[in-house]
Formats: sequence, C-alpha cells, structure tokens
Amino acid sequence: MRRKVIAGNWKMNMLPNEAMAFIENIVPVIKNTKNEVILCVPYTDLFYSLLTAQDTNIKIGAQNMHWEESGAYTGEVSAKMLKSINVEYVIIGHSERRQYFAETDETVNLKIKTAIKNELKPIVCVGETLEQRESGKAEEIITTQTKLALEGIDKNDVSKILLAYEPIWAIGTGKTATSEDANNSIKAIRKKVSELCGEQIANEIIILYGGSVKPENAKELFSTSDIDGGLVGGASLKVEDFSKIILSV
Ligand code: PEP
Repeated sequence: MRRKVIAGNWKMNMLPNEAMAFIENIVPVIKNTKNEVILCVPYTDLFYSLLTAQDTNIKIGAQNMHWEESGAYTGEVSAKMLKSINVEYVIIGHSERRQYFAETDETVNLKIKTAIKNELKPIVCVGETLEQRESGKAEEIITTQTKLALEGIDKNDVSKILLAYEPIWAIGTGKTATSEDANNSIKAIRKKVSELCGEQIANEIIILYGGSVKPENAKELFSTSDIDGGLVGGASLKVEDFSKIILSV
C-alpha cells in the first residue's frame, strides 16, 4: 500500500521567525501521524526550518531550483545548494511558475533530471486550465505533461518522483475538484506512468491532489483509490488547518 503524503506549499509567505514558530507549534499536534509531512518553504526560510524541524517528523522542501549545476544565472539556486543544507524535496513545475516565470515542459524535465542527480526528491506538478477542462482536453493535457516530464528519466528513478495533479482553476480559488473527478484524473496520470514505466512503478508512485484542499474536504479526497495525499497552499499557512488536513487520514 502506498503511504499518504501531505505537503504544504507556503509560496511567497512566512518570514523565518514565523516559519520557526509554525513548526514549533505544529510538531506536538502531528507527532503521532503515520503520514509523511513535507513543508515547501521560501529559500530564506529553508535553513531556519531545517534546524527547527530537526528530529521531528517534518521534512523540508524548496519550491524551485535551476536545472544547471552552477554558473552565471543571477538570482537562481542550484540543486546542489539545496542538497548541501539537507533539503529533501523540491517542487518542480508549479503552475504559478509555468504561468508567471515561463517554465515549460522542457525546463520541467531538465529540472527533474538535475534534482534526481543531486538526490533531491522532486514534487512535479501537472494540471489543466479551466478552458482546457471545459473543452474536454483535461486528460490529454495532464497525461502529455506527465509524459514530457518523465522523458528520458530512468525507470528506476521515476518512483523517486512525487507527482501532483493540480487543476489550475482550483488553485487558490476556493474551488475544489470533486473527489471523483480528482481521482479519475489521477487514475489517468497513473495509467500513463504504467504505459511509460510499467505497472509496478505506476502502482508505487505517489500522486497528490492540489487545489483548495481544506480541513473540510481533505478526508474525502484522500480516501479515494488513487489520491495519495495533498499539495496544500493556502491552508498550509495555519497550524490549525494544516494539522487537521494531516490528521484527516
Ligand atoms: C498550491 O499552491 O499548490 C495549491 C494547491 O494552493 P491552494 O491549496 O491554495 O489552492
């Protein structure tokens, strides 16, 4: 059976003192969970969050990285830099990065390869726009994004990746996909992974749902056959909400 994973994405929120207070406050509440808990924090919070989360069941991730190992890329952060301070996870291809920072399926693929090479675990986001959903193209879009993300990646490395299905129309909007629709989309992604890498890897790979996950809808979403947990934005900023989501399953 696949484990459940609940990952928070703080986006461009939380100062270091807020990050440390958040972690100190949530640790006692979630200490008995069997679920894997990840917080993907801004770069400036990484070091403080890693120190505060030491010897707890919270793992720390970044929200982006560059695909090159090093070089003249002002303002960028490399996989090796993240790894050097013991960051474990990194979000790749979040729709906000695709939308506002011109990330493409090609750069997503390059970043995944570099992350794996540096022993970071990528959380790779795919998802359709409302227009694509309404014109019946959602499945084609998300399975194509999955295929392009995984292109050229060794099958043995694919199970190190976490995928996150995040319909763009549900991110930060308060609109959630129904648990049935989200589960069906994730089934389609899993089927594509099976075609590309075989049934065993498809059965093992963790696929999260993201898009307005809240304490009120988490249990229903996470109790479906194929949703292995959530990538949570807004609701990961409050200890009370995020801990309820973690403890919902
Ligand atoms: C996200 O940032 O990945 C996300 C799903 O945000 P929200 O939960 O706020 O919709």
